[in-house]
Amino acid sequence: MEPIHRRWDLETDILVAGCGYAGAAAAIFAHDAGARVLLLEKMPNPGGLSILAGGFAVICEDPKAAFTYLKHSCGERTGDGVLRAFAEGLMWLPDFYRDLVKLNGAEIIEKHQKGATYRFPGYETFGEIYISAIPNFKGFAWGRGMRGGARLFKVLYDNLNARNIHVNCESPVTRLLTGDAGEVIGVEARQNNKSLSIKVKRGVILATGGFEYDEDFKNQFVQAKPLYALYRGNTADGIRMAQQVGAKLWHMWHLHAGYGFKYDEFPIAFRTMISGTRKRDQIMPWILLDKRGRRFMNEYPPAIQDTGIRGLEYFDADIQDYPRIPCYLIFDHTGLGLGQMGFCPINDPEVSYAWSEDNSAEVERGWIKRAETIFELSKILGLNADAVQESVNRWNDMCAKGQDADFGRLPGTMTSIKEPPFYGMQAWPIVTNTQGGPEHNAQQQVLNVDGKPIPRLYALGELGSLFGHLYLEAGNISECFIGARIAAEHAWAQGPW
Ligand SMILES: Cc1cc2nc3c(=O)[nH]c(=O)nc-3n(C[C@H](O)[C@H](O)[C@H](O)COP(=O)(O)OP(=O)(O)OC[C@H]3O[C@@H](n4cnc5c(N)ncnc54)[C@H](O)[C@@H]3O)c2cc1C
Repeated sequence: MEPIHRRWDLETDILVAGCGYAGAAAAIFAHDAGARVLLLEKMPNPGGLSILAGGFAVICEDPKAAFTYLKHSCGERTGDGVLRAFAEGLMWLPDFYRDLVKLNGAEIIEKHQKGATYRFPGYETFGEIYISAIPNFKGFAWGRGMRGGARLFKVLYDNLNARNIHVNCESPVTRLLTGDAGEVIGVEARQNNKSLSIKVKRGVILATGGFEYDEDFKNQFVQAKPLYALYRGNTADGIRMAQQVGAKLWHMWHLHAGYGFKYDEFPIAFRTMISGTRKRDQIMPWILLDKRGRRFMNEYPPAIQDTGIRGLEYFDADIQDYPRIPCYLIFDHTGLGLGQMGFCPINDPEVSYAWSEDNSAEVERGWIKRAETIFELSKILGLNADAVQESVNRWNDMCAKGQDADFGRLPGTMTSIKEPPFYGMQAWPIVTNTQGGPEHNAQQQVLNVDGKPIPRLYALGELGSLFGHLYLEAGNISECFIGARIAAEHAWAQGPW
């Protein structure tokens, strides 16, 4: 029931908040189902974190095997219905891509039986799909990240434009409006410094990303402190709005996060050059040392942005400090020559930076410290020189033997640190994206604290991701698209209130 006092400024069938992959796809599916769609984006440019991504989406051949894998990898923290819906969605994803690319001739690469990162039963079924090229497309002026992610967003963006779905930027959704029975009947939003009340006849789809740039949420839900992020638009707005209407939260602790770099002159963080699923013979030039100058983890876990952060999070109650925040990358001249140490994905009109090809600009800036000896380098970094020398010596011995007896790093990734000059960089916990948010069911409906759906409210993408323990690499993008279709079609099927 509509509250009688309400005056509406606009009306639509389905409202989508947020224009990353999840929101853009939801708008497309809602439009194709027959709905009038309003797409609101908070930031000056669309694309969210999505536009910066690698653009790889996981697919599968056998949904039963995929389900078995997901049961293990989600650590019993996600309901079977949600996992089944996702596993089945992985089957139709390639058809969705084929439909989308009809417009602009983008080329698709589809790989089967690539396997998932972790060797749980069913892992062989997974493959991946991505856009390898788009005629005449060189990237967006505003979102500079990995090219595959921009290409994928371009395909969605062209499809939005072809359907006359306008992305209303600088238009944050600020509040959900509910009727007497608790169903969501509209939203409040801001546009041109004005508040708008928007009547939504069938469903509100929240695709507002995670909480990686919200200090309060990070303080409450994340052990590592500080935790730096890549994108400033994702500040838990959708989580707060859903909480205001009674939503239950899940997976708040689970981060898609590793370690990387942060410098005071930039509001966003930078990634290390190595990302994604581990390649068994990719040399990682550095070791990581804690504040005492000791190694403390396998620097190159199976998915560095999934569990890479976990070694850093430890809080030592005896010293009342995080001994691994910050920590230090140590490498030598040969290591420096292996390529850019940092990578800057940026979707932010106020920030621009390009990491130099040979790292020389970053040495010049003092981000990478250089010294002729390990002793001197330790002093510059403020570390105990004897401890650092001992750690480097031990590492070099293990490299010579081809076995990391301390933390089991794979031999193909190891290289000794012997060739002067030597280099050191401060490293911090860096989140790629958070996974937590409002819990949803297999129809993407947001659940209340009693586990019942909040009528006409949906959550997508990394706003309450299904990944609850270990991340399935390339799973976030697939989840955006699968959830978008399910939510849009379910919202449309509701009929108007
Ligand atoms: C460098 C990098 C590489 C990655 N590579 C991959 C990969 O290859 N495969 C993979 O699966 N995943 C990858 N990921 C993760 C993946 O890109 C994200 O999880 C996914 O794109 C998130 O999509 P989303 O639509 O949920 O969120 P986002 O893309 O972040 O979109 C959320 C949008 O909502 C907007 N918003 C926030 N609040 C409001 C509000 N109140 N009102 C309106 N709008 C609002 C935000 O500004 C933003 O535009 C990568 C991430 C990064 C950073």
